[in-house]
Amino acid sequence: MSGRRFRIFRKRPQDDLLERSMRTCPGCQRDVHVFAAGCRHCGHALDIAS
Ligand SMILES: [Zn+2]
Repeated sequence: MSGRRFRIFRKRPQDDLLERSMRTCPGCQRDVHVFAAGCRHCGHALDIAS
C-alpha cells in the first residue's frame, strides 16, 4: 500500500531539467531545444526570444 505512493513521488530531477529545455515545435509537434533557431526535424523557424 505505502509502496504505491512512493512511486508517484519518485521523480528524477535530471529528466525535469531536460524537459524544461525542450519545447514542442508548432510545425511538426516534436521536441526541439529551446535555444535552437529552427526545428531540426521540419525546419520550422523558432523564436528564441520567447
Ligand atoms: Zn518541427
